Amino acid sequence: MIRKITIAKDIGFCSGVKGAIHKAREAASRYNKVVMLGDIVHNERVVKELEKSVAVVIDNIDKIDESTPILFRSHGTKVKIWEKARQKGLTIIDATCPLVLEIHKSAIMMEKEGRKVIIIGDHEHDEVEAIASQVKEPIVISNPREAKELKNIRKAGAVVQSTQLIDDVSEIISILSYKIEDLRFINTICSPTRKRQEQVKELARTHDVMIIVGSFTSANTKRLTQISKRINIHTYQIQGVEGLDSKWFNTASSVGISAGASTPDFIVEEVAKKIATIP
Ligand code: SF4
Repeated sequence: MIRKITIAKDIGFCSGVKGAIHKAREAASRYNKVVMLGDIVHNERVVKELEKSVAVVIDNIDKIDESTPILFRSHGTKVKIWEKARQKGLTIIDATCPLVLEIHKSAIMMEKEGRKVIIIGDHEHDEVEAIASQVKEPIVISNPREAKELKNIRKAGAVVQSTQLIDDVSEIISILSYKIEDLRFINTICSPTRKRQEQVKELARTHDVMIIVGSFTSANTKRLTQISKRINIHTYQIQGVEGLDSKWFNTASSVGISAGASTPDFIVEEVAKKIATIP
């Protein structure tokens, strides 16, 4: 069967992930050993490859000795961990994405304006926890229900986890605007995320089946899958070629493919090639 396969224009690593991987490789060439606190990007294959060639992943800063440099991941690190690393005298390689740092700055600025800081994002996500640690007692809101439950506030400022869905965020902001007398909102969804979300909408509208490639731990991949599913129920998320099921393509004459910002190009290409061979 001849099937049209379209890969989204923006796939592969976003600028933040590219920068983090570059820093990890650079650090490995300079030092004998480097440790990463948690996965520096949300993709198992990338992390495994980095572990083989570059650095080992640890889950607790107490587990490393003072002579080993530590690499902080792209989606940000909690203030307490920064302090602990400094107290231990560790060499810190900061791979935080500049766009995530902008969110930190926006939260701090709004707190200085006397606003209660609200973070629209997923509870317990690393990026959200790192943003939350920049200010005193912020409120995290992950969905419209939580926004409705919020008590009235006089003055607040809202920022957003970089990978959230703009449609959902708009709904939350409109609820908050009734509850907060003076609300300042800074849309901190990053531009690579926005572009991918727009492209996935277009592909989902115009293709029979949608394949989203990326780790199930990746927030931005999860969002792309959600957006696509809302438009096209024949949407499937896979981590790689091994996740494909030929049944999905039985009657499909067109397939759109998109990928999260921490999915390497070559995995997307493997998936496209495999789909092309499915009868
Ligand atoms: S998704 Fe956006 S904020 Fe996150 S690392 Fe990539 S560019 Fe930076």
